[in-house]
Amino acid sequence: MIMYTCAFCKKHSCEAENPEPMPQNCPRRETEVLKQVKETYRDPKAAKLAYHAALVEAEGYCEKTRLDEIIDFAKRCGFQKLGVAFCIGLSREAEVFCTILRHHGFEVVSVICKNGGIPKEYLGIKEQEKVRPGTYEPMCNPVGQAVLLNKAQTEFNIILGLCVGHDSLFIKYADAPVTVFAVKDRVLAHNPLGAIYLADSYYRQK
Ligand code: SF4
Repeated sequence: MIMYTCAFCKKHSCEAENPEPMPQNCPRRETEVLKQVKETYRDPKAAKLAYHAALVEAEGYCEKTRLDEIIDFAKRCGFQKLGVAFCIGLSREAEVFCTILRHHGFEVVSVICKNGGIPKEYLGIKEQEKVRPGTYEPMCNPVGQAVLLNKAQTEFNIILGLCVGHDSLFIKYADAPVTVFAVKDRVLAHNPLGAIYLADSYYRQK
């Protein structure tokens, strides 16, 4: 089994037209696999996403916010009906976000994480394992968010603040392509990279 370690590579010769010298375990040596991967971009759906993603990246580089880029990308791809899967803890942000999307002419379907009202006990969660033991706690239902947005036939889905793992389920079960507007990090103002920027200080103690 080949172990790729791009995160520790200092050569980054993958960015060069002529990649030599490549590290021994460089994914670029996987010529057969990469040949098949390139073919994937011939698929019209993948080609459309890849083409417009490249344009959005280049045209908005260090100028447009992620919100601008999501709007730009959806418009370029011709997506009219957007799905928003959001966390109840970010309801206020979801309302503003959906209002902005509507303002830009999109039809917006939004589904909250707690849809369905299924108690956490259904997952085998015990009383002491709840966020607030002794209370009724509905489980987050990302599969429900995906299935309901599928039912609404959204063309492009956007995650706003889903928890770790819930986002995984949503992405797995959603039919339409998914992007992320914001991720959940209750401690770092939903800016998880803050933990990485603190790696030499706060996290050195951990
Ligand atoms: S693809 Fe190759 S050159 Fe690029 S980061 Fe990974 S190991 Fe380094």
